[in-house]
Amino acid sequence: MSSLPSFRLMHPTSASGAVVMLCENPASRFIAGGTDLLPNIRRGLLAPPVLIDLGSVDELREFSVDANRARFGAGVTLASLAADPRVLQSLPALAQAALAVAGPTHRTVATLGGNLCLDTRCQYYNQSEAWREGNEYCMKCAGDTCRAAPKSARCFAAFSGDVAPALLALDATVELLGPQGLRRLPIRDFYCDDGMVSLALATDEMLVAVEVPISDGWSSAYDKVRVRGAIDFPLAGIAIALRRDGEVLSGLRIACTGVSSRPELADSLDEVIGKRLDDAAFTMIEKCVRRCVQPMETTVVSVPYRRRVTPVLARRLLQRLWESE
Ligand SMILES: Cc1cc2nc3c(=O)[nH]c(=O)nc-3n(C[C@H](O)[C@H](O)[C@H](O)COP(=O)(O)OP(=O)(O)OC[C@H]3O[C@@H](n4cnc5c(N)ncnc54)[C@H](O)[C@@H]3O)c2cc1C
Ligand code: SF4
Repeated sequence: MSSLPSFRLMHPTSASGAVVMLCENPASRFIAGGTDLLPNIRRGLLAPPVLIDLGSVDELREFSVDANRARFGAGVTLASLAADPRVLQSLPALAQAALAVAGPTHRTVATLGGNLCLDTRCQYYNQSEAWREGNEYCMKCAGDTCRAAPKSARCFAAFSGDVAPALLALDATVELLGPQGLRRLPIRDFYCDDGMVSLALATDEMLVAVEVPISDGWSSAYDKVRVRGAIDFPLAGIAIALRRDGEVLSGLRIACTGVSSRPELADSLDEVIGKRLDDAAFTMIEKCVRRCVQPMETTVVSVPYRRRVTPVLARRLLQRLWESE
């Protein structure tokens, strides 16, 4: 990796001040923990002349959990989400997903906002400048052809954040601040199926917080498959929230990550609601999960492996969660 190019660093002390700086410096970028942004700058994938450091914005670190809802500022670190007893108790999928990100030193500085706004990843893109030059670049940066799917007009780089699927399964809402004020968006509408522009975040907006409802009777969990168990992006990740009424499934949401350009909720799960979780239900659920899985040759493991492992991961996690209820 090459050295960092020079840039100006700005230090807002409020979220609205940060948005003003962003509007006044259109090519600037927010930097939170910097654990994704700085490696990407070093690789020459972007070269913002101005970085707006969110580390001095106290309001972004607000953290509250009560009986009905939780609200986390975008600057809350993943380490604190993973360790908070209230999150562990009420929103276990969120704590498990935060704990599954990278390694311990990353998680002490990496933030919720940075994780949700992570750039999409691809083995032809997350490489040094020299590597990419030697391989004629690709459409996502400096080239004109997709290396993973050369005939494709679109980029299939995979969204590989761990926390987004947990928040999808938990039915969270994101709060976005722009020059016109605050808007709230269900997190399922925050992601676009496009490896180039994967966020429904305007260029003059920032993510300020995430709100998560807490409902009685629901349990949740997250699990992922990765190459190195101690530190790695998900090759496939699954988050599940479910409600069990005796022998019957009375609520179910399943979300995937790492297997397409956006984290995605499986649809048509209503068909198994009100039924027993038997083999027929598992088969139906696996079918629904498989429909979210559109991996391309963007990682070191094969496409057929990621296609097969995702529904298996969902089945095992669901079984575990069901039996623990
Ligand atoms: C070795 C290694 C392993 C990793 N493994 C994983 C992994 O297993 N799972 C995983 O999910 N990630 C992984 N990551 C990526 C990264 O560490 C995490 O996703 C982390 O949570 C990013 O948060 P950050 O605060 O460091 O973001 P930053 O790097 O500061 O920012 C990331 C992006 O978000 C934007 N941004 C930050 N905050 C805001 C905001 N409030 N509003 C709008 N935009 C914002 C930035 O401009 C930037 O584009 C890994 C990284 C490394 C280096
Ligand atoms: S999917 Fe294609 S265009 Fe997108 S980063 Fe990978 S090689 Fe580049």
